[in-house]
Amino acid sequence: MTIAQNIADINTQLQGTQAHLIAVTKTKPISDLEQAYQAGCKVFGENKVQEMVSKWEVLPKDIQWHLIGHLQSNKVKYIAPFVSLIHSVDSFKLLQEINKQAVKNERVIDCLLQIYIAQEDTKFGLSEEEAIELLESPELKELQHIRLVGLMGMASNTDNQEQIRVEFKSLKQLFDRIAKTYQLPNTAWKEISMGMSGDFLIAAEEGSTLVRVGSAIFGHR
Ligand SMILES: *Cc1c(COP(=O)(O)O)cnc(C)c1O
Repeated sequence: MTIAQNIADINTQLQGTQAHLIAVTKTKPISDLEQAYQAGCKVFGENKVQEMVSKWEVLPKDIQWHLIGHLQSNKVKYIAPFVSLIHSVDSFKLLQEINKQAVKNERVIDCLLQIYIAQEDTKFGLSEEEAIELLESPELKELQHIRLVGLMGMASNTDNQEQIRVEFKSLKQLFDRIAKTYQLPNTAWKEISMGMSGDFLIAAEEGSTLVRVGSAIFGHR
């Protein structure tokens, strides 16, 4: 199967759901990204700042770049000029830095809060309580150059489909609760980023709007 066939196949599977495909291009060469682009996929997810910047520099400018991996505050400045969505906001301090760099670039940067939903120790993210605390903080409304548009989560790395489904359901429920409760000038709740190569169909069934798929498009890393 070619990259184009894989993309077509996944898009067919996602038909009738709310989910849009983000092609996760980390570690993959430019030629692979060009094939995806030719196949009509223009939203790419990267997890490392430097790699995303290098690829952005050489590829067409109508590509949307999503930062999906852990982001250190001192690296925000490199992606602030062009990033379209940051999936991995896991602290108020990071949000403040994104806001500061967005001001410098005269932009508003869309962000997702990364929520910890897995039964594992290895994943980054906020607990529900920490997310609520962040949303309740009085300084949040001062950040006029960020916009919180949704939540992101990663399910446990397990073959247990029911557990994965339960974890996605919990993220959807938290999203619904937050979207109802926290309507601020810098919020526009609309995105739930969940689902990867192994579980994107379950995620789509549970209300994902953004599935982040790498190896099912480009092969193993
Ligand atoms: C690598 C990565 C993905 C894609 O993983 P695949 O299993 O290759 O689809 C999705 N989300 C995040 C945060 C990642 O780092």
